[in-house]
This record gives sequence, structure tokens and C-alpha cells, in this order.
Amino acid sequence: MIQNFKNNGYEIVDFEEISDIYVVNTCTVTNMSDRKSRQVLRQAKKKNPDAIVVACGCYVQVAQKEIEEINEIDLVLGTNEKSKIVDFVEEFISSKNKEKDYFIEIDNVMQNKEFCDFGSVTYTEKTRAVIKVQDGCDRFCSYCIIPYARGRVRSRKPESVIKEVNEIAKNGIKEVVITGIHVASYGKDFKEEYRLIDLLEEINRIEGIERIRLRINRTSFNYRRIC
Ligand code: SF4
Repeated sequence: MIQNFKNNGYEIVDFEEISDIYVVNTCTVTNMSDRKSRQVLRQAKKKNPDAIVVACGCYVQVAQKEIEEINEIDLVLGTNEKSKIVDFVEEFISSKNKEKDYFIEIDNVMQNKEFCDFGSVTYTEKTRAVIKVQDGCDRFCSYCIIPYARGRVRSRKPESVIKEVNEIAKNGIKEVVITGIHVASYGKDFKEEYRLIDLLEEINRIEGIERIRLRINRTSFNYRRIC
């Protein structure tokens, strides 16, 4: 999302600063994260009452009614809408002139069959790049809300991953961190047989990449009860 704003000429400032737009990418993996998300959304409007406050991400996706009760929010976007955040913000700004003061866009993530590809990102870290290759989970463990917030398994196309890693390697970054919600399911949704190991082997052949790390979702260890 930061990249998307930068590409469209916006300046990124620290959350503590006075800003025209505040984006809160909410989390719902525990009740504590729900509460923190609500607090931060309220704090944003206090910093600048004229700012546009955008609530997006997992908590928004699963708790629309709770989100609607927070008056400080102007724009509500689900997990699928994050890749087009600038379009939604600008649409809201122009509709605001016509006195539309609240806007909600939440897709049914369970019906989503394609990986939402954010494209390549310009990394500021010099040594390491985090590459998201997969989203969603099909396991539906009884204590976990993730599949309801992120939907079913969707994998990023290998050519898109390889293109990004090549760009990274050309920029001198030697280490990639491969991540997703349930990385071991990578490729499960492809028609042709192509699994995580195939992707890793392709990455391993890219000149300049010296280390590949796998990062599993920390949420696997921090459960939130849903019943
Ligand atoms: S605990 Fe992990 S495997 Fe189970 S539903 Fe949640 S994300 Fe999927």
C-alpha cells in the first residue's frame, strides 16, 4: 500500500505526524488486536479531525458491524481492496465534495479465487526483501479466524515472483524471505503441478540471491477463538 501511495505522488509520514490520510491496516488474530485496531482508528481522527481515516484489513473483513460503529472512520476496505487503496481514497475524496461522508467496500473474500498481486515493491532494506507468495488457508482449524479473514488458498503466479526476485537481485539484495498465510499450500490452487519446492528451486537459480528464508505466519501460534 505504501508503494501504491508513493507511485501516485503521495508523501509517506510517520503515523504520529499530522497527515491528510491515515491508513490503519487492522488485525484480528486475537481479541487484543481487535481492540488495538479500534483504538488506533479513533486516535487517527484526533490527530487531525479533517483527515480521511481509512480502515482496512482483516478485522474490517470479519467485523463490519463493529467497524461501522466507529464514527471516526471515513473509508472501510476489506482485504481484497487493499491493492487498489489509492483509487478508493481518491474516489472518496471526489465523492466527499458531493457530501458522501462514509464509504464501504468489502468483497466476499471466500469467493476470491485469484491471488491479489500487489506487483513489485521498491525495498528500502538493503540486505533482505520480504516476498508474499500466497494468501488464505483451507484448513479451517476450529480456533482460528484466518480463513474467514483471508479466504481460501490463492498462490501468486511463479513468473510474478521470479520477476520480483530478479529485480531485487539486480538491486543488490542477496536475501529473500518467502511468506504467506499458509506457505506450505503454495501451488495447491494451480491447475498444473507446481509446489513450493519448485518455486524455491527457481529462486535458488537466480544469480545474486544467496539466502532464502521461509517465514510462516505467526498467527499459527496466536489463536483467536471464533466460537
Ligand atoms: S491455524 Fe494456521 S492452518 Fe489452521 S486455519 Fe489458522 S492459518 Fe490455517
